[in-house]
Amino acid sequence: MIETETDLRKSLEEWGVKDCEFVQFELLPDDERQCDVCKTTCYLSAVACSCDPCKLTCLKHFKSLCQCPSNNHRLKYRYKLDEFPEMMEKVEKRAKSFAVWTQKYLDLCQKKIPKFSLLEFTSLVDEIKAKKFPETEDVQNCRQQLLQVEKCAKVFKQLATLVSNVP
Ligand SMILES: [Zn+2]
Ligand SMILES: [Zn+2]
Repeated sequence: MIETETDLRKSLEEWGVKDCEFVQFELLPDDERQCDVCKTTCYLSAVACSCDPCKLTCLKHFKSLCQCPSNNHRLKYRYKLDEFPEMMEKVEKRAKSFAVWTQKYLDLCQKKIPKFSLLEFTSLVDEIKAKKFPETEDVQNCRQQLLQVEKCAKVFKQLATLVSNVP
């Protein structure tokens, strides 16, 4: 991925695009950062032209954006090339910690004794929040299950009180 991005930026520069602008793509709605040609959602970089500020393309399709000369175009970038290694490391770390989380969750489901695992479920759900994991099916199921487990725990507590109140 890093090599492709480097090559694409190089060819853009060789074509004559000098301007660039830092853009936090992740803050834009998807339809405002879609390549006009291939409809890819841009998150690392994109090319825009002064003739139409609403249009952009990915780095592969910049020549189809419009007919203007290259110096009207500008590169919009999220990361500088020298920031890439650090960013990749972060992405990898995140992927790893999500894999660990998923395994813990699946193990817990295997146990099939949800009413005794309130603490474990709570800590898994806390982890989702703290690490801002993506809303995958596992993540959603886990939240649902915590609600179930909390209900069970409540009933269990009530039962326990009942039992201990029996003279
Ligand atoms: Zn494209
Ligand atoms: Zn143009």
